[in-house]
Amino acid sequence: MSLFDLTGKRALVTGASGGLGQAMAIGLAEAGADIIAVSSSEARETVRLVRELGRKAELIAADLSQESLLEGVVAQANEFYGGIDILVNNAGIIRRKPAAEHSWQDWHDVVSLNLDSVFFLSQLVGRGMLERGSGKIISVASMLTYQGGINVPGYTASKHGVAGITKALANEWAGRGVQVNAIAPGYMTTNNTAPIIADENRYKSITDRIPAARWGTPDDMKGPVVFLASAASDYMNGHVLNVDGGWLAR
Ligand code: NAD
Repeated sequence: MSLFDLTGKRALVTGASGGLGQAMAIGLAEAGADIIAVSSSEARETVRLVRELGRKAELIAADLSQESLLEGVVAQANEFYGGIDILVNNAGIIRRKPAAEHSWQDWHDVVSLNLDSVFFLSQLVGRGMLERGSGKIISVASMLTYQGGINVPGYTASKHGVAGITKALANEWAGRGVQVNAIAPGYMTTNNTAPIIADENRYKSITDRIPAARWGTPDDMKGPVVFLASAASDYMNGHVLNVDGGWLAR
């Protein structure tokens, strides 16, 4: 399926140490891409798994919520393979506290990573893509791109913002060969959702609402990310693709 072939493409995936980011890095590598795994936590396992597939893999350890580090991360990534064809803005955190008690620090930590880094990494990587006249940017949104959630106001604001950035960049860059889109995962089993999974009642009530009758797994992200990274989606711009087992259709 040459439409989905990523051979020779260079992909930078943030938050690639585990969860959805690791699965997407492996999915892209399975389709032929070489990977740069960026993460604030240990991502050596991802690098090993990508190399086992016969693809190149490099690691950059960085706290992406520190805006001053972003330029260096992109410069280092460019040095590895001479450019970046695919950027996956996946790194994200969540802080669960009622709105009345949500601290400035919690708000700031979440928004710096989930929103600020998405925009500025897209800008820094996007400049090279615009120069070459091609590139794919895929950001990870959420069901809370559409819904309000409970006890997670900073996260909700950041994920609504991801959709806004996706559309804003697409409007400017679609005509210049750079496709900017997002994936909105439903409820997926990762560290991010471990506290909800541990709450039996909450877990059951969420599962009961999912038409697919199960939570998603990180592997469920592989197909969608390969699609949005490949020529198969060349006429898609500013789209948020829901990968939610039907949650939003309910
Ligand atoms: P996770 O906690 O398993 O993984 C998060 C990744 O981000 C890790 O690799 C971690 O090292 C990295 N990270 C955290 N803080 C960082 C920082 N400051 N700088 C650089 N990297 C950092 O969570 P996940 O569920 O795989 O989440 C991945 C993305 O998917 C996030 O944007 C999250 O909001 C989104 N998402 C997850 C779900 C879900 O159900 N799990 C649903 C919707 C959206």
